[in-house]
Amino acid sequence: MTINEAYRSGIDMLKSNRLTDAEFDARCLLEFALDIDPTRFFISRSELIDVKKAEYYFTLINRRMNGEPLQYILGKWEFMSNEFCVGKGVLIPRPETEKLVELAKEYLTDIEKPVVVDLCSGSGCIAISIAKLIPDATVYAVEKYDDAFCYLTKNISLNEVNNVVAVQGDLFDKELLRDVSADLIVSNPPYIRKADIETLSDEVKCEPVTALDGGEDGYDFYRFLSSYWLNEFLDKNGAVMVECAEDQGDYISELFSEYSEKNEIIYDFNGLQRIVTAYK
Ligand code: GLN
Repeated sequence: MTINEAYRSGIDMLKSNRLTDAEFDARCLLEFALDIDPTRFFISRSELIDVKKAEYYFTLINRRMNGEPLQYILGKWEFMSNEFCVGKGVLIPRPETEKLVELAKEYLTDIEKPVVVDLCSGSGCIAISIAKLIPDATVYAVEKYDDAFCYLTKNISLNEVNNVVAVQGDLFDKELLRDVSADLIVSNPPYIRKADIETLSDEVKCEPVTALDGGEDGYDFYRFLSSYWLNEFLDKNGAVMVECAEDQGDYISELFSEYSEKNEIIYDFNGLQRIVTAYK
C-alpha cells in the first residue's frame, strides 16, 4: 500500500462516520504514524508503507472514527505556535483562547517584572505562552486536578520555561497564593451550564467535565473570580482577563463592574463575545 492509498482509504473511513475534517485528520494521523513531516507527505505519496506502520495508522483512524479527539490521539497540539502535550484529563487548547494571551501581552509590556496568576490552568497553554512572550514575568499556574496538573508540569518542561510556577490547588481556596501580589489574573474557567453538558458533542464529552461545568447557570467561577480574586486578592491597579461563552459577556461585565474602575467585553475572530476584562 502506498502513502496515497492509505491516505485515501483513511479519508473514506472517516467520511463514512460523518467526520467533517476527514482530509485534515487523515493527513495528520498518517504523518504521525509514519513519523514524517508535511513536505515529505506531499512529495512521497507514491512510496510504499511498511505493513506494521500501515496497521498502526489504521488503528489510529479507527480511534478517530470512534470519536476520540484528533488532539488526544496525536498527544500534542499547537497553541500560540508552541507545542503542548494533551490527552485524557486535560482540556484541548482552542484558537479562540489565543486572544486572551494577546491581550495579556499588550497589558503586561509596560509593567516591569509583572506577576501573573492563571487560574484553571489545565495544559498550561495560557500561562506558558504568556511566560514565553514576557520573559521577565513570573506566572503562577494554578490547577486543581491531578491529571491536568501532570500535563501542566510536563508542558512547562517541554516548553523550557523557567518563569512558570505550577501550583496544585483549588481557586475557591482563599489560602491559595496568599503571599503573592499579582498585576494580572487570567483564566479560562469552566463555564458551561450544568444542564447543557449533556447536549455537547461526543467529542467535547471526551474532555474532562471538570474543565467544562460552570455550575447551575454557568457563572460559579466568575462569581468567585469577581468577589474574591478581583475584589480581595488583586492589588489596586491590577487587572483580570477571563474567557467566556458568547452569551455570558454582559453578565460577567456586570459582576466585575462592582469591583473595577473600567471593564470591557472583547470579541473573538468570529465576532462573538469571548473575553471580559476588568481594571481596578
Ligand atoms: N486554561 C486552559 C485552557 O484555556 C484550561 C481551561 C479549563 O480547564 N477550563 O485551555
